[in-house]
Amino acid sequence: MAINHIIIVGGGTAGWMAAAAMSRLMVGRELAITLVESEAIGTVGVGEATIPPFVGFNELIGINEAEMLSAVGGSFKLGIQFENWGKIGDSYIHPFGAYGYAMGGIGFHHVWHKLMQEGDNRPLQVFNLETMAAYFGKFARTQDYQRDDLPPINYAYHLDAGRYAAFLRKFAEARGVVRQEGKVVDVALDSESGDVSAITLDDGRRIGGDLFIDCSGFRGLLIEQALETGYEEWTHWLPCDRAVALPCAREDGSPPPPYTRATAHRAGWQWQVPLQHRNGNGHVYCSAHMEDDEALDILVGNIAGKPQADPNFLRFVTGRRKKFWNRNVVALGLSAGFMEPLESTSIHLINTGIDKFLSLLSLDGITDAQRDTFNRLTGREYARIRDFLVLHYNATSRDDSDFWNYVRTMDVPDSLTEKIEVFKANGQIFREEDELFTDTSWAAVMLGQGIAMGGHNPMAESIDTPQSRKEIDEMEQSIRFLVQHMPGHGEYLAKYCPAQ
Ligand code: FAD
Repeated sequence: MAINHIIIVGGGTAGWMAAAAMSRLMVGRELAITLVESEAIGTVGVGEATIPPFVGFNELIGINEAEMLSAVGGSFKLGIQFENWGKIGDSYIHPFGAYGYAMGGIGFHHVWHKLMQEGDNRPLQVFNLETMAAYFGKFARTQDYQRDDLPPINYAYHLDAGRYAAFLRKFAEARGVVRQEGKVVDVALDSESGDVSAITLDDGRRIGGDLFIDCSGFRGLLIEQALETGYEEWTHWLPCDRAVALPCAREDGSPPPPYTRATAHRAGWQWQVPLQHRNGNGHVYCSAHMEDDEALDILVGNIAGKPQADPNFLRFVTGRRKKFWNRNVVALGLSAGFMEPLESTSIHLINTGIDKFLSLLSLDGITDAQRDTFNRLTGREYARIRDFLVLHYNATSRDDSDFWNYVRTMDVPDSLTEKIEVFKANGQIFREEDELFTDTSWAAVMLGQGIAMGGHNPMAESIDTPQSRKEIDEMEQSIRFLVQHMPGHGEYLAKYCPAQ
């Protein structure tokens, strides 16, 4: 059946990202897109840290970066600082961008490891531009420095989720997407095909469509409540199932640091996402090991600044929908699945879901091959991200609570065990099946949390030590010089995209 009308149910980050991107489909075509959302229900109200591909998403749909950042009070993000994960008192940054660059065709961390064994004692971090800029609170975009001897800087954004959805709404409506306010109270299925045929709103309006995008949040109004797709739970690997969020003012006038902070606590961890006008804060925890009151007390005890709202308590079940595209319904955002925001991957999964959907879509109708491809690729993406998150909990020597004793000793997915064993043997990391996280990401977390490289790529032995030492000295000096001459992050924001 030809697709003439696409209905998006939900107007959170997922719904409006889908609407903004899909509005491009309407150019020169007889295609209608309707988005239905309910102000009475509202959105999840969190989700403010992103990763670098999100910059590309905004570019692709034609958003002006400075204008958007200014509207959402956004700031730049160069990575995530993890504190107390490997053991209490530890701290490392998982940076965007690579450690050094390949030398003699060999990954940089192998060369670094060889030189370490020969007496060099510089940490890997000093060879990463993003880490050094983050530590010094500096920021510049690649076009601001134009240096041939250094790679481009990789960054993402911190943004106010509510303001971002409002920004995208304006963008999508200006391009023809029609918004309908109302609560969906019924979902009709076609008696022959079993496809969703229409939704009914609380005032009796019935809206029929050919293809439905479920962005209704955790409830999965179409994908689960109507189509009963099923859910694969991963709580045995990622047992946190609660969060409490509490935004607060940054009263001391200090500039926002250009990175997210993730601080581990007794039964979970706390995030700090610095925007221009406030800090986003929250505590993710495991209800089997911590009550809500204690989780809130820990959060309040570890934030500076006056709360700007009441605490927002959230419950979730980690896992994924058994199918992301079922019949004529595609689930995006929280209705597709959920993994805790430890590596800011949820908005990214919305982004890649939209990318895959738009690449596969044919407006002549939906085929099984399209659905199967979408489901297989999305399933792999989820599993690879899951393994990376599980690594953060499992690679620890913490034994100060039942929670840490459980995650330290739990059975992890075989795919992760293999990855850790290969790294321990000689530091090798293979990026499989187009997975999101690079070898720098895996190395940052494994080394940052105490998994040592037992050796390095044997090919590293063949490189000339004095020459490689000279090259890495120059690399370190170039990074230090550049960071020294970059503006402060606050100064950069004030010039480039001051909050409205
Ligand atoms: P929602 O925001 O819940 O939106 C659902 C929409 O559906 C709303 O508009 C609602 O009104 C509408 N709706 C629901 N039912 C009906 C109905 N019956 N009728 C009409 N409309 C209806 N992601 C990141 O990438 N980075 C982060 O730092 C991050 N932090 C997070 C922290 C926590 C604690 C949690 C829980 C999530 C976090 N996320 C993060 C995930 C991120 O918040 C979501 O991926 C993102 O906000 C998308 O949510 P959504 O649009 O799918 O759902």
